[in-house]
Amino acid sequence: TTEETWQTVDSYLTDTLGLSDPALEAGLKAADAAGLPRIAVSAEAGKLLNLLVQITGARRVLEIGTLGGYSTTWLARGLPGDGKVITLEYSEKHAGVARANLDAAGVGDKVEIRVGAALDTLPQLELEQLEPFDLVFIDADKENNPNYLRWALRLSRPGTVIVVDNVVRNGAVADAASDRPDVLGTRAALEYIAEEPRLDGTALQTVGSKGYDGFALARVVS
Ligand code: SAM
Repeated sequence: TTEETWQTVDSYLTDTLGLSDPALEAGLKAADAAGLPRIAVSAEAGKLLNLLVQITGARRVLEIGTLGGYSTTWLARGLPGDGKVITLEYSEKHAGVARANLDAAGVGDKVEIRVGAALDTLPQLELEQLEPFDLVFIDADKENNPNYLRWALRLSRPGTVIVVDNVVRNGAVADAASDRPDVLGTRAALEYIAEEPRLDGTALQTVGSKGYDGFALARVVS
């Protein structure tokens, strides 16, 4: 099959399953209008995140990489009334677009956006001695994926679920000779999942409107 088929099927699934709505569409439009890159998760992946929040009964969610708040909206919608997403974003501009989108989608009060390099804001979270996170979604600069996984573990408890996005990259991840920082970071993250006894995980390849990619899913064991 071709990318065109993946697109067609993605649209079919989104329509048939009713995976989008005006608030989500408006958020994507606003991100486009502000010139943000079109690298948010697909509606299907967003719904998967939403379901994971519900299935795990997560109350505290950490997201690394906010962009315009699309995945954040899906995560926040899965939370119970007292639930909260803390989402980390490097770009002041992206954070501004996300704040407006999240407020417009009616989930603004459930989301705290922390602006800065995640490797600076993650240690701050630890210093604050917050409750551990129940679910962590890692979707920022891919070269830092192993660092983000290590931080996710520090801020977790046994049973915490960790999702790492974009672990296939059109197949580039299987190229052991690659010197691309994103590939090196993702390979190191997958090796970390395999080697770290506190993590139990897998990865799945996906195709769709976002091309050929995939995600890793891990559970904190201890
Ligand atoms: N999760 C979003 C969604 O699906 O709607 C997409 C996130 S986008 C793939 C990656 C985001 O990570 C960008 O907004 C980028 O500015 C941000 N980012 C890049 N480097 C970062 C860093 N060091 N710390 C925090 N955020 C970073």
